[in-house]
Amino acid sequence: MHMENQGIAVATARDITFTCTHCKSPLVVDAAAAGLILDCQRCGKPTPVPMAKTKVAAESDSKTADIQRRLKENESQRTEVTGYINQLSIQLHRWQLRLQTLNERKKELEEELRKTS
Ligand SMILES: [Zn+2]
Repeated sequence: MHMENQGIAVATARDITFTCTHCKSPLVVDAAAAGLILDCQRCGKPTPVPMAKTKVAAESDSKTADIQRRLKENESQRTEVTGYINQLSIQLHRWQLRLQTLNERKKELEEELRKTS
């Protein structure tokens, strides 16, 4: 079986992508050729086509991609919330300093009041 008519440019979902065991050329064949030994388009030597991904493996890939997407979304939300917490921590610190200044001023004024009366 030869692969002269197999294009290597476009891979569809049903295609298998693999490399020649001799020259390492990237090769693409239809899933129907899974498990067969084909002649490499580049070097012409016989090279085995790996078995196509099973439906379970494909579903597992899709599930993995979904979990990775949710993980990424989670990460971006965590970054957002962490940013809010940092901002508010700075704001809280400012108010605490302001209160401390006001408390000191209060003491000074009360002291002045005691002296004048
Ligand atoms: Zn080859």
